[in-house]
Amino acid sequence: MKGSCHCGKVEFLIKVSEGDFFKDIYRCDCSLCIKKGIIMKPLPKEKFTLIQGGEFLNSYKWNKKIAEHFFCKICGVYTHHQRRRDATQYSVNLGCLEAIEIPEEKEIQWIDGSSHS
Ligand SMILES: [Zn+2]
Repeated sequence: MKGSCHCGKVEFLIKVSEGDFFKDIYRCDCSLCIKKGIIMKPLPKEKFTLIQGGEFLNSYKWNKKIAEHFFCKICGVYTHHQRRRDATQYSVNLGCLEAIEIPEEKEIQWIDGSSHS
């Protein structure tokens, strides 16, 4: 499944099984994610491949500086981040993925980022 930032400079591929794709999507209540207003999909880093635009990626770390949040420095869109709670994982911005439609009945879990960030 392909993903990209808004201007298209940054493109990536993720390998996930479509069947349980929505099972673990989440929102986070930390002060950064609240401002971004995003829904995320976690996955092992080896299932994520940057196709192009590495030179356009900038990153942001804050507080304990464990999680690293990547965004396109041209259009500003957050694409993915290295997770604080599991350094072997990235989470990607669901809004960056092509042809993703969240099922209407899907309840999106909130994770407690505010007390851990
Ligand atoms: Zn961009």
